[in-house]
Amino acid sequence: MASVIESAWTYLITNFNDFQLACLGSFFLHESVFFLSGLPFILLERAGWLSKYKIQTKNNTPAAQEKCITRLLLYHFCVNLPLMMASYPVFKLMGMRNTLPLPSWKVISTQVLFYFILEDFVFYWGHRILHTKWLYKHVHSVHHEYATPFGLTSEYAHPAEILFLGFATIVGPIITGPHLITLWLWMILRVLETVEAHCGYHFPWSLSNFLPLYGGADFHDYHHRLLYTKSGNYSSTFVYMDWLFGTDKGYRRLKVLKSDACEAEGKEM
Ligand SMILES: [Zn+2]
Ligand SMILES: [Zn+2]
Repeated sequence: MASVIESAWTYLITNFNDFQLACLGSFFLHESVFFLSGLPFILLERAGWLSKYKIQTKNNTPAAQEKCITRLLLYHFCVNLPLMMASYPVFKLMGMRNTLPLPSWKVISTQVLFYFILEDFVFYWGHRILHTKWLYKHVHSVHHEYATPFGLTSEYAHPAEILFLGFATIVGPIITGPHLITLWLWMILRVLETVEAHCGYHFPWSLSNFLPLYGGADFHDYHHRLLYTKSGNYSSTFVYMDWLFGTDKGYRRLKVLKSDACEAEGKEM
């Protein structure tokens, strides 16, 4: 396996230069992972498949789904891509490389775990700031246009928010100056995580059923259902920041109520 990855990597670095890989390669990879993981949830919602696992009963109209897609393409090309190009010199300055040998799995996984923890921390506070009156009204309300989120709404946000919270995504890699392959793995996992958090479905196989500190779709869906002043659940990936700072109380109460209701139903039967 390691040799397959290494030969694929050799092919990439002999055929493309550093800038092409870091900017265009990252952009292409991001678009592929994002749309391939997000589009199936639009199809699920339209076809009504697996609806017993849908968190909310309300469905989005095709027009609302299409608006999200066109806006995303516009922002990805006009905001994300220029942002990737502009941050390239900073990454280079901090030691990002794409050369062989590739880093070990130990280094890659430690760095990616560090990025998840740091991103979650920065995102939590940034997100809470976005829920203050002025910023919510003028910036963050765009992301909350979809009270019933679906996978692709994860990146549907005001350009100012893309820049603001994008910082949370790149601060870890900027500090550590990783290998490009580590950066790509981080990007893939982060996209899959945020698409899952917005997917609108809680399946028996959802990661949050197995990973105790992981938020997932049920956790973030709650954030979208409520009014901005009462939302809570501000974290991106984990649940402990909201627990530590008491912003998950409403969500926890709801969980208790739900499990009590389930128990009562069970007894009646
Ligand atoms: Zn929010
Ligand atoms: Zn969201």
